[in-house]
This record gives sequence, C-alpha cells and structure tokens, in this order.
Amino acid sequence: MDIADFGLMITSLRAVAELTKLVVDAHDASIRREKSIELQGQVVAVLQSALAAQTAQVTQLQRVRELEEKLAQFEAWNADKEKYELKNVRPDRAPGGKTFAYVLKEHADSTEPVHSICPDCYQTHQKTILQGVMLKQGRVDVLECNRCGLTINLTGVSYEDRPNPRPQRPR
Ligand SMILES: [Zn+2]
Repeated sequence: MDIADFGLMITSLRAVAELTKLVVDAHDASIRREKSIELQGQVVAVLQSALAAQTAQVTQLQRVRELEEKLAQFEAWNADKEKYELKNVRPDRAPGGKTFAYVLKEHADSTEPVHSICPDCYQTHQKTILQGVMLKQGRVDVLECNRCGLTINLTGVSYEDRPNPRPQRPR
C-alpha cells in the first residue's frame, strides 16, 4: 500500500466517523436514512482499501522472501567460489596448449576430494563439478559439464562424431 492509498483510506475512515455522528445526531428520519446509505458506501470503500492493503502486503512479503533466498544463495556462492582457483587442467605434453577450469585449492579447508568445476558455469555463479569421460573417437580424455555441456579436451585431438563423408563419384 503506497502513501496515496493510505491517504485515501484515512479520508474514508474520517468520512465514516463523520457520517456515523450525523446518523446518530439526526432527528429527521429521512436525513438519517440518507446519511446511513452514504455511511454504507464509505464502509465498503474502507473495506476495499483494507483488502487492497492486505494483498499488497502479502505480495511484498513474498518479494522479501525471494530476495532473502537470492541473498543466501549469493552469500553461499561467494564463500564457495573462494575455494577454487583458475588453473590449467591439460597435461603439459598434451597437444593444444593450455585449457582452464576452476580447481579446488589445496588448502581450501574442504572435505571434498580434489575436483574441478566448470569455468562457464562459474561465471553464472553456479558450481558444476566436471566429470572425466573418455571419448571413443581417438580415446581422448575429456572433462564434461553436465549443466552447460562444455567439453574440455585433455589429452588428444577430438574428431567429429562421424568421419567426413566420402566424396561422391561423378556419374
Ligand atoms: Zn558448465
């Protein structure tokens, strides 16, 4: 409920109080009836305002909860990411130069076994442990991210799944 809505509710409540007094004080039955009808209208207006205020409060509480959850996730990620460092994960003699992933620091105060996490998911504040797999083609060791699909070739040259099609003979 914003300040304007709150102001309207206060105005309606004042009108209810004034009309109630008029109804009580009126000696003429027709005036009493007329003011009673006005009073009912104002009571309905106040009830509508109160209902709108309650709905707005529920929405705001929901938003606060969502933000608290996001903050908790962000704080957990901030603490977690400090345990990792960007390191070359490709063995020295493997072809293709260096390739990087975030590796658990040696003194990270963690009970987890040494592992590396996806550098792409790291940028989006997600910790995804890379899994070692050997490709059939060329028997190449790779690290795979099961979240974003990143594949880090560790030990060899990877080929397409299918070899190049044979050139068609002219007929
Ligand atoms: Zn990933």
